[in-house]
Amino acid sequence: MSPRDIQDLSRAELEGWCLEQGEAPYRARQILAWVHRQGVRRFDDMANLPKRLRERLAATFCIERLEPATVALAADGTRKLLFHLAPGTDAGSPAAIESVLIPGRKGDPDAFGTNPGACDRLTLCISSQAGCGMGCGFCATARMGLVRNLAPAEIVGQVRAAQSLAVPDRLTNVVLMGMGEPLANYDAVVAALEILTAEWGYAISPRRITVSTVGLAPAIPRFIAETRVNLAVSLHAPTDRQRGRLVPVNRRYPLAALLAACREVPLPRRKRITFEYVMLAGENDADADARALVRLLHGLRAKVNLIPWNPFPGAGFTPSPPGRIVRFQAILRQHGLSATIRESRGLDIQAACGQLAVSRPAA
Ligand code: SAH
Repeated sequence: MSPRDIQDLSRAELEGWCLEQGEAPYRARQILAWVHRQGVRRFDDMANLPKRLRERLAATFCIERLEPATVALAADGTRKLLFHLAPGTDAGSPAAIESVLIPGRKGDPDAFGTNPGACDRLTLCISSQAGCGMGCGFCATARMGLVRNLAPAEIVGQVRAAQSLAVPDRLTNVVLMGMGEPLANYDAVVAALEILTAEWGYAISPRRITVSTVGLAPAIPRFIAETRVNLAVSLHAPTDRQRGRLVPVNRRYPLAALLAACREVPLPRRKRITFEYVMLAGENDADADARALVRLLHGLRAKVNLIPWNPFPGAGFTPSPPGRIVRFQAILRQHGLSATIRESRGLDIQAACGQLAVSRPAA
């Protein structure tokens, strides 16, 4: 049996392990700081631990590193990282995932970060699963199906790999908007978020992390209560009839259930939920749809992020013309709903929203 990666453990789990070994629980924090903050690869380098503990650790755990197999650079400075993962413990299948590193400038949505050294915002988009089982027709990742869940080490490993690539810049934001449905891999995602936000870990402010969900309603109140990161919900349509066509999971969790889940747990002060809305010509982009969206979100602390649809071969949708998107945004704003338009990045290297897909290696 191969040893477990210590980066898969939460602090509570490692404290439990320390107790079993007859060690004080505070050792867990020291170990985790070596692993995540200092980034050491060998337990023997953990200078403030007793030798017997270092030996026990080395006999029990490993510390793996994700290294990108390729890094593709887009004309706009966006970089796409491809990782090959070891076979998972659950599915046993080889898997590949992608992450996207997106430079930008605050307050200047049109700034192309062609010189990554000069950007003041660097967003990393990471995957939570290899492939995705949600089946949204307008998303290329859905075509892969679900290959397997990622382990916490594989989620935070994408951040470490991107950080070393980003030097001398630092990541400013992390979004779980790559491959997969984060709330369908709930425990691993929450464990990874603990590591990313803890001061013994990556010490990234939860305000700078956003998790995007297709709308798995039962998991949403729990997620809001258990984490402090931002939540984005892929709404995409104002009626069940329209949404059911785009997002199959709407048949299990229709809009009423989804929005009730968003209202169930009070949001912390000043926090809002982002509703993502991909703009598809003739599907969901009419003036009446904008007005229906205003009514649907009435009373919620919400903002809307309109996403120009990024095409891929055989998708069977047409992107809304830019003028339509601007008009749709204007209607939302006229009714007091804050709305932004997401800039498509990395299109030429298939790194934009909904374009991530890695073909399965032939069996
Ligand atoms: N499973 C999560 C994360 C998906 S990716 C979720 O559903 O939210 C983040 C966003 O990109 C989602 O809102 C998703 O619906 C959107 N998206 C998917 N395919 C797209 C495409 N081809 N063009 C633009 N946005 C897309």
